[in-house]
Amino acid sequence: MSSSLKLDKLINALQIMPGIGKRSATRIAYQLLERKRTEAIRLADVLQDAMQNIVYCKQCQNYSDHEFCDICQDIKRQDKRLLCVVETPSDMQAIEQGGNYFGLYFILHGHLSPIDGIGPQELRLDILEKLLAEHKFDELILATNPTVEGEATASYIAALAKKYEIVVSRLATGLPQGSDLDCIDEHTIAASLTYRRVLKDN
Ligand SMILES: [Zn+2]
Repeated sequence: MSSSLKLDKLINALQIMPGIGKRSATRIAYQLLERKRTEAIRLADVLQDAMQNIVYCKQCQNYSDHEFCDICQDIKRQDKRLLCVVETPSDMQAIEQGGNYFGLYFILHGHLSPIDGIGPQELRLDILEKLLAEHKFDELILATNPTVEGEATASYIAALAKKYEIVVSRLATGLPQGSDLDCIDEHTIAASLTYRRVLKDN
C-alpha cells in the first residue's frame, strides 16, 4: 500500500503486462508520474482505442481494423489459391518477413491441447472448413510449429482437409541458414536427414 489509492490502482493495473511483477510495475508507475505523464496519457488513449476497436478478420482471424483485413482483400493474393495455416499472428508476420509467400492465411490463435481444454472449436476450425469449402484453394500449407502440439494440430487439419481435394503440405524441418552442423541439436539434425532433398542440378 502506497500513499495514494490511485497509485496502488495504477501499480495493480500495470501488472497485467506479461513479465511485469509488482516491483517492476511500481518502478514503471513512478517513472511515468515523474517524467512521462503526457506520453502515458497518450498510451491510455491508444490502449483504449486498440482494445475497443481491433477485431478479428472474419476470414483469416488475424487482428484487423475492419471486418476483413488488407491481406484477405488483396485480389493478387486471392488469385494465388494458397492458404497457409499458422498458430499465431506473429508466426504470420515471420512468414511475411520471409518475403516469398504471397497467398492467404488462417490464424488459429493456438494449437490443439486437450489438457488445456483447447479443442477444434477454440481454434475456430469450423471457420477454416467453411473457407476451404467456399474458396477453391490449390494448396493448404500447414505452418504450425514443429512441436508435439503443432504436429498434432497439423495432422488434425490435414485429416479435415481430405474431403476438399486440396494438396496439403507441411513446412520443411531442418537446418537454419548460416548455421554450423556441430551447433545444431540432434532432433533438428535427424529431421534434416529425414527430409533431405536431391539437388536438382546434379
Ligand atoms: Zn484476413
